[in-house]
Amino acid sequence: MATPDEAEAAVQALREADVLFLEILPQKRDAADDDDPDPEAEERTGSRFTVPAAGSGIRRPVDRRFRSKRRGGAMFDAHLHFEAIVAREDGTIDWDRAERLVERWRAGGVRGVLAVSVDRPSAERTLELKRRFPDFVFAALGEHPERPLSSERELWALEALIRAERGRIAAIGEVGLPHYARVDQKSAVRERLRFFAGLGRKLGLPLALHAVYDGAAEALSVLREEGVRKAHFHWLKAPAAVVERILAAGYRVSVTPEVCYRKRARALARAVRRRGAPLLFETDGPWPYEGPFGGRPAEPLWLGRVLQCAAEAVGEAPEGLSEAAEAAFLSLFGSSEAAGGSGPPADQGS
Ligand SMILES: [Zn+2]
Repeated sequence: MATPDEAEAAVQALREADVLFLEILPQKRDAADDDDPDPEAEERTGSRFTVPAAGSGIRRPVDRRFRSKRRGGAMFDAHLHFEAIVAREDGTIDWDRAERLVERWRAGGVRGVLAVSVDRPSAERTLELKRRFPDFVFAALGEHPERPLSSERELWALEALIRAERGRIAAIGEVGLPHYARVDQKSAVRERLRFFAGLGRKLGLPLALHAVYDGAAEALSVLREEGVRKAHFHWLKAPAAVVERILAAGYRVSVTPEVCYRKRARALARAVRRRGAPLLFETDGPWPYEGPFGGRPAEPLWLGRVLQCAAEAVGEAPEGLSEAAEAAFLSLFGSSEAAGGSGPPADQGS
C-alpha cells in the first residue's frame, strides 16, 4: 500500500502528465462524437448512456476494479502515449516515475504496450523507454496527424531515426489523417501519410494509424495503394461499411475504454468479432475519458475492465478475447520488431 503522501504525489504527477498531454495533442473529442447516430438499429433503446457522465456528481470507486488481476490475464495495450505520461516539462524522462509505472502495470497483468510517438522529440523519448524496458515497450515512431505538419527537415530527421533504429522499432506511428484539427493543406497531409505508408512497406513495419470518420476511408485507400500489409486503426470511428473494408483488408481494429459506455464502441467490437477477426485493446493513455472513467487519465491498468466490457458486448468469454488479442498484438507488433536486425523486406530505391 502506498502511503497517503505517495498517493498524493502520484495523483499530482498524473495531473501534471495530463496537462502536458493535453498541450501536446489537440482535443479529439468534438460535438460529432456525441451526436453520432447509433450505428446499430437493434441497439436503439432510447437511452444512449448507461452510466452517468463525468461531472454528474456520482463518483465510482473504479480504480480498484481496474487494477484487479483476476480477469483477463496477460494484456497488451495497443496504443499508449507512454512518453507523454513520463515526460518532464524540459523534455527529459522522469525515470523514477517510469520505473514505478512499469512495475505497477506489470504487477497488474499488463505484459507490454505499444508506445506511440507524436513527433520527433517524443520519438526520441519513446526510443529511450524502449532501451530501458526492452521487453515491455514496443516502440512506434511517427507524427500525430492532428498536429501541425512538421517541416521537411523534421520529417527527414524522423525518417533517419526510423531507419537507424529499425531493429528496435515495432511500428510507424502514430500517423494518419486529421479529423479533429482544421487543416488547410489536405493534399500535403495525405502525401505525408503516403510517405509513412511507403516507408512502412519498405522497412517491413506496420502502421499505427489515427484515421477516423472520413479520414478512415481515405487512409484505407492510401494503405492499399502503397501496399501496406499490416496496420492498426486505433480509436476507430467510421461508418460500418468502412469498418468492413478495413477488416476485409486484414488490418486490425481495437476497442478503447469507450466500449464500457458508448454503444458505438460496442457495435464496433461486435462488427470485428462477426468477421472472426481479433480485437486489440487500447487505452490511448493518458487520454481523459468520460463515463465511468471520467476524472483521471487513462492507463494500461484499465485494460482488464475494457476487456470485461468488450466480452459483455460481444457475448464471449474474456479469456478467449484476451488470448486472441495477445496473439494479434504479437503478430502485428512483435514480429516486425524481431525482424529488425535481420533484414526486413529489401528496401529498393530511396
Ligand atoms: Zn494516440
